[in-house]
Amino acid sequence: MENTDFNLIAAKISQPLRILITTHSNPDGDAIGSSLALASYLKKKNHSVQVMIPDPYPDFLAWMSGCNEILVFSSDEVACKEAITKAELIIAADYNSLSRLNAAGSLVRQSPVTKVLIDHHLNPTDEFELQISISKISSTSELVYNFIEAMGDLHLLDKEIAGCIYAGIITDTGSLSYSCNYVKTYLIMAELFRLGIDGEHLHRLIYDTYSESRLRLLGYSISDQLVVLPEFHTAYITLSKEDLERFNHQIGDTEGVVNYALSIKDINLAALFMERDGIVKVSFRSKGSFAVNSFATKYFNGGGHRNAAGANCTTSLEETILKFRQLLPSFQTMLKSVY
Ligand code: 5GP
Ligand code: MN
Repeated sequence: MENTDFNLIAAKISQPLRILITTHSNPDGDAIGSSLALASYLKKKNHSVQVMIPDPYPDFLAWMSGCNEILVFSSDEVACKEAITKAELIIAADYNSLSRLNAAGSLVRQSPVTKVLIDHHLNPTDEFELQISISKISSTSELVYNFIEAMGDLHLLDKEIAGCIYAGIITDTGSLSYSCNYVKTYLIMAELFRLGIDGEHLHRLIYDTYSESRLRLLGYSISDQLVVLPEFHTAYITLSKEDLERFNHQIGDTEGVVNYALSIKDINLAALFMERDGIVKVSFRSKGSFAVNSFATKYFNGGGHRNAAGANCTTSLEETILKFRQLLPSFQTMLKSVY
């Protein structure tokens, strides 16, 4: 589907509406940042706005303005169902398929109201009547900024909205280290600082909030659980349910762990396999041309971006890793030269 003209979306939201903003499960900085930035903006446009997420957000995002008003489907199903029923417009921010809402997905799918996609993942499904889907952009938060700009409403931005957009851009680009080769990203960053954010402080709120057990889990992941396969330019980390329990794992604690495996010289593919209740959550990261989203989609029923993707597998931890390892020989040549 073609991207919708901004004017058509502007027309759709020209009257005050009850708007429900949804974002993906295991919400990250961009999911929460883009949703809250959009919520604050739309409230200023006189809409009544509710943000709903499938499961809780990590603690390190709790400083964001509007966080405490978010409805969480897994812990407050009744209120969420009511919000879905009452919505006159539903926005999908930072995900490309309603399946990423888990149990809430089918309820949102059944809603007869217009659904608007605002996202930067490749290949959105056809579940949305209106869409702004731009995959080359750093983050959905950057897209939200561009949307507000296209609406002629940059004057409505404030320090709180700027903080949310900053968080989204920073977390989706590894603090401006990937997916950020565009001038516009930096122009927006400059604008966020002009609006008064304290980037140094916000960066600390996002990244320097480890508990002791989280740091020890990271140490254990690297020293004991990292497997390096130089011949396949691949490294991976495995965390079993017992490992996670031992380190008192909290939501968000394994965020970023997979990147350490990718930081090894000449390692171009990294994976993290994490055993959760009944499923194995896999994170893939890559350098250069090796597209982990295609890899995750084709073999693990997942998805994501070229250099950062994920999947939720119903196979056992051992089976999932075995499958991964067995796939590597056929990608040996591709993994060798990614630049
Ligand atoms: P992470 O590894 O940080 O959980 O996710 C990295 C990227 O992959 C994110 O952009 C996320 O949206 C995507 N992703 C993670 N898990 C899944 C999944 O189960 N299905 C799909 N389609 N995408 C996923
Ligand atoms: Mn994103």
